[in-house]
Amino acid sequence: MSALLEAVGLRKSFGPTPALDGAGLSVHPGEVVAVMGPSGSGKSTLLHCLAGILTPDAGVVRYRDVELSAMADGERSELRRTDFGFVFQFGQLVPELSCLENVALPLRLGGVKRKEAESRARSWLERLEVADVADKRPGETSGGQGQRVAVARALVTGPRVVFADEPTGALDSLNGERVMQLLTAAAKETGAAVVLVTHEARVAAYSDREVVVRDGRSREVEPVR
Ligand code: ADP
Ligand code: ADP
Repeated sequence: MSALLEAVGLRKSFGPTPALDGAGLSVHPGEVVAVMGPSGSGKSTLLHCLAGILTPDAGVVRYRDVELSAMADGERSELRRTDFGFVFQFGQLVPELSCLENVALPLRLGGVKRKEAESRARSWLERLEVADVADKRPGETSGGQGQRVAVARALVTGPRVVFADEPTGALDSLNGERVMQLLTAAAKETGAAVVLVTHEARVAAYSDREVVVRDGRSREVEPVR
């Protein structure tokens, strides 16, 4: 099966030491890939290049056989909206909106009517077992609840790829495990692939495959399961 998303020979520098120095990664449909490695090794930079948020200095990123660099900026942002979902460590929900409105927002931006968007958002909150925070603002929820709302928001549009950068980084291990269980179960159900950046082996254990990044270079590892 050919890769859904593929990066080859990525180089990116912000200063004298390259953040990426020939990194690559391929993601197949429905696959959960963990990107591991120490802090500062280039994991987030690799994720940002894969998601078309950052343009590499050299190398290529292909999504469904189309090079991201060949797309116009507008096309790339449209692709992110329609095909990609994002979960970060924290700070991704709009504080002024209720949790339900936050989850409905990507659908609203895609032109879905309010009633329909909110009904779909509500069923995603139920699936992530946080229906009870629907009318609360993100600031009124616990960290674990907030991350489940963020996962619901990332999945509500039916993305083909979910990018998760340290999604459990701000949670205790019990809440972190639950978020990983719910995220990976929902991804498997919907057929979404997940690119999971983490430095924790316990979190990476939820993946199908692990890639280690060190000094801006990546390599596949055979996980011991
Ligand atoms: P990781 O996610 O593995 O912690 P990052 O990809 O965030 O690593 O960072 C890799 C290196 O690139 C680090 O040295 C970091 O400080 C640097 N870096 C990342 N993004 C930027 C940026 N926008 N500006 C300057 N330096 C950056
Ligand atoms: P992570 O914890 O996932 O590695 P960081 O907190 O390092 O992420 O980075 C968060 C954001 O800040 C990213 O967009 C990254 O590109 C940017 N960044 C990282 N390091 C630097 C830096 N030294 N200077 C400027 N921006 C940076």
